Amino acid sequence: MTITNRNPAAAAEVVLDDVDVGYSGQRVVHAISLELPRGQIGCLLGPSGCGKTTLLRAIAGFEGVMRGEIRLNGESVSRPGFTLPPERRSVGMVFQDFALFPHLDVAGNIAFGVRGWSRGDRDRRVRELLRLIGLSGYERAYPHALSGGQQQRIALARALAPKPELLLLDEPFSNMDIELRTDIAHEVRAILRAEGTTGILVTHDQNEAFAFADCIAVLNNGRLSQWDTAYHLYHRPADRFVADFVGEGTIIPGKVCENNCVETALGKIRGPLSDRFGPGTAVDVLVRPDDIALDNDRGDIKAEVLSKAFRGADFLYTLRLQDGTEILCVAPSHDNFVVSDHVRLRLNFSHLVVFPRGDSGPARR
Ligand code: ADP
Ligand code: MG
Repeated sequence: MTITNRNPAAAAEVVLDDVDVGYSGQRVVHAISLELPRGQIGCLLGPSGCGKTTLLRAIAGFEGVMRGEIRLNGESVSRPGFTLPPERRSVGMVFQDFALFPHLDVAGNIAFGVRGWSRGDRDRRVRELLRLIGLSGYERAYPHALSGGQQQRIALARALAPKPELLLLDEPFSNMDIELRTDIAHEVRAILRAEGTTGILVTHDQNEAFAFADCIAVLNNGRLSQWDTAYHLYHRPADRFVADFVGEGTIIPGKVCENNCVETALGKIRGPLSDRFGPGTAVDVLVRPDDIALDNDRGDIKAEVLSKAFRGADFLYTLRLQDGTEILCVAPSHDNFVVSDHVRLRLNFSHLVVFPRGDSGPARR
């Protein structure tokens, strides 16, 4: 399957055209096609081992391609039998284990990639980047005296110093506290925007992807399930794997009835349905926790509270319907129901997502 996302209005900085990458003749990623416009920020999202790093290394030029072509800024940089070396690609990289040089101070670290520049240009670039990352005045500090977050920002400045057209980031926030990660993802995004740099982030963390990316590639076992905005991944997942990997939710059985409508344990759920689901078709329906509203006054669906998780602004309830079907539901935390309470629900679907029954689709986690 080839999935493309072409946007002719914007110049594509990164084009992957039906790319296979692997090691010793064994393919690890298959038939990847996507286009990332200049100045945009993309993300490769998927579970560990699905091939994210392999694909990123191919974009950087550390691995060749076994099939297809990679073009950067209109130039063919990888095809079978030809791999333009990384240093000729105008690509910067930041890794998870971004070691700074311990014997160089901050200015020395940042200027490392621009040693060939004149002293004045180098100093100007260091000052400019320190201002951008919020660490003005740290030129003479040494890495050991900085916090993990500060070191991470220095590593970013070091990668940005030569003004690469494309910055590749491989799980750069994985070693940071989970509370910090989304904040720093937002921060790095703002820095790339300010520099006008196109970026690709590899992560297995959807919150990080959502905070960082304009467009996200969900990879499953070396294949591209969907290349789309976070909103569409959540509301219009292309397959079960995406439905399951991105966001929370449950999948419940249903049967198509007339007029774009599916009969389920929640009653009739309405919404546009593709023609391939004719009346009578057995399907599976994705129920997101925000597709259901807890409403004891107006709700007409009965359920029992099985468990709940406090998440600050809201609770995530696990509920059992009368026929035993379990679903998830978010509700504001001022509605404080307890386990085994009987509650009433109403439907609040904005998108109806159905999959063919029994089509297990790509492997689920
Ligand atoms: P991810 O970054 O999504 O965790 P990787 O791209 O690192 O995944 O790995 C994808 C697959 O390729 C895994 O099965 C991994 O074992 C294999 N792999 C990664 N690097 C190499 C290598 N240098 N040689 C052989 N196989 C590798
Ligand atoms: Mg990896």
